[in-house]
Amino acid sequence: MIGVTVLGSTGSIGVNTLDVIARHADRYRAVALTANSDVERMLAQCRDFRPDYAVMANEAAAESLVQQLRETGLETVVLSGDEGLVQVATLPEADCVMAAIVGAAGLLPALAAARAGKRIMLANKEALVVSGKIFMDAVRENDAVLLPVDSEHNAIFQCMPPAYQGDLDQAGVHRILLTASGGPFRDMAPAELESVTPEQACAHPNWVMGRKISVDSATMMNKGLEVIEACWLFNAEPSRVEVVIHPQSVIHSLVDYVDGSVLAQLGSPDMRTPIAYALAWPERIEAGVNRLDLFEVARLDFQAPDLDRFPCLRLAYEALERGGTASAILNAANEVAVDAFLNGRLKFTAIAKVVEKTLTALPSAAVVSLEQVLEADGEARQFAGRLIG
Ligand code: NAD
Ligand code: MG
Repeated sequence: MIGVTVLGSTGSIGVNTLDVIARHADRYRAVALTANSDVERMLAQCRDFRPDYAVMANEAAAESLVQQLRETGLETVVLSGDEGLVQVATLPEADCVMAAIVGAAGLLPALAAARAGKRIMLANKEALVVSGKIFMDAVRENDAVLLPVDSEHNAIFQCMPPAYQGDLDQAGVHRILLTASGGPFRDMAPAELESVTPEQACAHPNWVMGRKISVDSATMMNKGLEVIEACWLFNAEPSRVEVVIHPQSVIHSLVDYVDGSVLAQLGSPDMRTPIAYALAWPERIEAGVNRLDLFEVARLDFQAPDLDRFPCLRLAYEALERGGTASAILNAANEVAVDAFLNGRLKFTAIAKVVEKTLTALPSAAVVSLEQVLEADGEARQFAGRLIG
C-alpha cells in the first residue's frame, strides 16, 4: 500500500485526488488529510477515507472537528496549525504528498516534504514561485521526487525525454510552449473588464477550480505564475518558455525540439489525468476521465497572448527578469489583491495595478534564506494591503 498525505484535501485538487485514490483503494491509502476551516467536508472525508491524521490549519476548526469526530467513533488524530501541516507532510507512513493548499500558505509543508525526501505531487504552484531556488535545492539535496500536477507542467513532463536531467540543450529542446485558455475574458473589450464581478471571474469556460486560481486565470496571472513554475521545474531560461493561447484547453502544453518535432499532450480538461499520472508515474492508472473525442473537438485554435489586455502576464516575466525575491513579491501582492477583489473591495482591473505598484516599489534581492523570502512576502502583503486601504 502506498500512503498518501493530501494537503488541501477539501479543495478542488484535493477532492479530485481523493476521487482517484478511491478508484484504486487496493493500491493507495490516504494517511493524512488537511484543510483550513471546512470542518463539514473534512468530517465527511474522514468517514470515507479513515485517515490516521486530519489537520485543520485553523485552531477553532480543529477543536470543532475533534468534537464531531468523537461522535463517529473514528480514531483519526486531529492536529492543527503549521506544525500539524508539517508533521503530516513528513510522516514515515506518507510515501507521497499531494501539495494542494492554495497560495504561499502551502509553502512550509511542501518544503518540509521536500526536505524529508518525499515523492511530492505539486499543485501548489505558489510555493515554487515564492521559494523556487530553496525548494529545488531541497528536492535535490534530499533525493525527493518532484512531480508536477499543474496540467501544463504535467503535460511538459510527459513530453520531455524520460531521463531529463535539467539541461534543455542536452535534451535537444528548443523551447517549451505553455498553453493558456485565455480565461473567461479572453475576448472582452478592455473597457468592460473594469466592472466584472467575482462570479463572472470564477466562471471559467473549461475548468472547475478554486476561487483564487479562477481569478488568476481571468487576469492571466495564473499563466504568469506558471511561466515562473516552468522555469524552476525544467531549469529553463524565461526566453525559452512561450505562452500560446489555445481556447479549447485540449492540448495541455507542448515541447518544441531542435529537429523540428513538437510533442504535445492532449486530453479532456479534467485534473484527474495529471493527478493520476503523478500518483502512478512511471505507470498509468485509470482516472475516471472522459475519453477525448477528436471529432467532437473538431478544431484546435491558437493565438498570441495580448499583454496589454493582460498586464499580469507581463509583470510575471518582469519579476522573472529581476530574479531573487521579486517573484515572492509579485505573488504576495497578487494574493492580497485577489482576496480584496473576491471580497468586493477592489476592481478587477486594479489587481494588476496593485501588483505592479508593489513590484516597482519594493526592492528585490538575491535569495539567501527561507526567512528572507518569507520576510519579502510579508512586506509585499503589507504594502499591497496599504495600497488597497
Ligand atoms: P481550493 O481553494 O479549491 O482549495 C484550497 C485548499 O487549501 C483547501 O483544502 C483549503 O482548505 C486549503 N487552504 C486554504 N487556505 C489555507 C491555509 N491558509 N492553510 C492551510 N490550508 C489552506 O484551491 P484549488 O483550486 O484546489 O487549488 C489548490 C492549488 O492547486 C493552488 O495552488 C492552485 O493554483 C493549484 N492548481 C489548481 C488547479 C485546479 O484545477 N483547481 C489546477 C492547477 C493548479
Ligand atoms: Mg495550470
